[in-house]
Amino acid sequence: MNVLQKLDCFIRSFKGEKGIVGTALSGAPIWYFCVRKTAYPTIIAQYSIHAREYITTLLALEQIKDFCRFGKKGTVYFLPMLNPDGVQICLTQNPLYKANGRGVDLNVNFNANWGTGEKNQTEAGSENYIGLAPFSEPETRALKDFTLFINPDLTLSCHSKGEEIYYQFFQTGKRLKRDLAFAQIVREQTGYDIKATPNSAGGYKDWCVKWLKIPSITIEVGSDDLTHPIGERYLTQIYQKNQGVIRALTESEKWN
Ligand SMILES: [Zn+2]
Repeated sequence: MNVLQKLDCFIRSFKGEKGIVGTALSGAPIWYFCVRKTAYPTIIAQYSIHAREYITTLLALEQIKDFCRFGKKGTVYFLPMLNPDGVQICLTQNPLYKANGRGVDLNVNFNANWGTGEKNQTEAGSENYIGLAPFSEPETRALKDFTLFINPDLTLSCHSKGEEIYYQFFQTGKRLKRDLAFAQIVREQTGYDIKATPNSAGGYKDWCVKWLKIPSITIEVGSDDLTHPIGERYLTQIYQKNQGVIRALTESEKWN
């Protein structure tokens, strides 16, 4: 079974709150699963915005099951596959593909210093193309609208690879300190390094930090020694390092 089939199976078997936040260019649904223990804090966790990073979708399914069983606090909206069209291209045409169905890199299409990233491209392709305008793509619009509707206290973006954590986007003072504290929680859980990404822009994290002014954490799962797309045989070791991340974030005393 490939990752799209596994997600389909999961959708059918999941008995809790679920729905679609929108559709990709092809019309493929973008699903969410909500697991609620207490009303506060609320987290949105999104995965596979970059197509070739679909190992993160399999991680999401494990994290949903973990939070259902062991979660004590908070409400988490999981979006296990933001970019179903890109994943389909990965599985059938180009295993290294990152963008959506028309060659826009969704994680540089958000309205947060859009077009100023070092690697930004202005022509459609497998990666780094910013699109014709911020939120030109249905997938980024869906995630933006859903985020504004839910109004989360924190967002988590899961990518691969490199075993790194990012949390910065020009925030300063108290907000910088607050957001670093959440990045440190993720570091304690995963053992990954916290890194700065001063030359990137237009990402979901960047938009959340800039406009919603909430902590927004990116986790790059999987060792840099692995090659894209990371094979399913590595899921166990990736899950071991990331199993407790969601619970540690929701149960943090920093929300008190
Ligand atoms: Zn990525």
